[in-house]
Amino acid sequence: MSDVRQHADDIHDQFSDHIDVSVDDVEDRLTTLVDEYKVPIDEARRSVTNHYLEEAGLDREDLSSGSSEAAQVEDVDEPEQWIDLTAKVIELWDPRSDSVAQVGLLGDPTGTIKFTKWAKSDLPALEEGGVYELRNVVTDEYQGRYSVKLNSTTVIEELDEEIEVGDDTSEIEGALVDMQSGSGLIKRCPKEDCTRVLQNGRCNEHGEVEGEFDLRIKAVVDDGIDAHEVIFDKDATENLTGISLEEAKDMAMDALDTTVVADEIRDQIVGTYYRIEGPTFGRYVLADDVEELDGPVDAEQLLIRARSM
Ligand SMILES: [Zn+2]
Repeated sequence: MSDVRQHADDIHDQFSDHIDVSVDDVEDRLTTLVDEYKVPIDEARRSVTNHYLEEAGLDREDLSSGSSEAAQVEDVDEPEQWIDLTAKVIELWDPRSDSVAQVGLLGDPTGTIKFTKWAKSDLPALEEGGVYELRNVVTDEYQGRYSVKLNSTTVIEELDEEIEVGDDTSEIEGALVDMQSGSGLIKRCPKEDCTRVLQNGRCNEHGEVEGEFDLRIKAVVDDGIDAHEVIFDKDATENLTGISLEEAKDMAMDALDTTVVADEIRDQIVGTYYRIEGPTFGRYVLADDVEELDGPVDAEQLLIRARSM
C-alpha cells in the first residue's frame, strides 16, 4: 500500500461513522495536495482531515483515532501496536545508522520510552524539550525493552504545553538470584564526568588512570514472572550488606585481592528475598528503597497478581 493510500485509509476510518465518504475520495484529495500543490504529506493529511471535520460538523476531539489508539508510555507492553502518544522529547541521541533520522527518549507523566524516526519517513525534526502529539506510531520490542517507531504515516503536531515526565518507578518483590560481574569493590575513572568502571586499571575512554574506589552491586531479581536487573549504588550496597566502602577497602588490602569483597557480598545476598523500589534507567532498576523479606513471596499472592495483569 502506498503512503498516501495508508493515510487515506486512516482518515477514512476516522470519518466512516460520520459521513458518507470512500477511501478513493480521500485519496484523491490527498493526491491533489501532494502531487499538484507539493504539500508535505502530513500537512496534506491535516488539511484533508480538517475538510472532513467541517463537512461532518465535528471537532477533532470527536474523532476516534482510527487505527491507532491514544496511549500513555506505561501502556506500551506489546510490539506492533499502533498508538498515539503525547510526549516530551527528553533527549536526542546520535543515530548510529543512516536509515535513522532521529533517535532519543520520549517521556510522559507515566514514564519514558525510546523512539526511532526513520530517515525515509521524511518527518519534521523533533526538538529536545519539545512537546508533541505523535499520531500513528508503532510499538516495538527488543530484548524485553519497548520503543516506538515514527514512520511515514506518523503525524507530528507540536503542542504549546508543558508535560511533567514521570520517573518510571518500579517495585519488584522477589528473590535475588544472581550477582553479575562488575559488582563489589570497583574502581572508576576519576576524569571529570567520566566515572566509567575501569577494566584492569583502564578506562575505555581515557586509558590507564588512577582509579577511585566505589562499591556497587549489579544483581538479577526474579519476581516469579520476570527477571529484573537491579543496580545498588554505594549507599544502597552499604545499607544492604553492612559493609562500608572503607571496610571493603580494608578487606581487599588484607587479602591483596578486591574479589574477596564481591565473594562476601554474594554469599550474603544471593538467594535472599527483597522488595526493591526505585527509578528505571533503560533496562536497570536503581535500588532506592530496599527491604529484606522473610522468605519466598506468598505464592498465592503472586498468582492473584499475575491474573490481574
Ligand atoms: Zn574515563
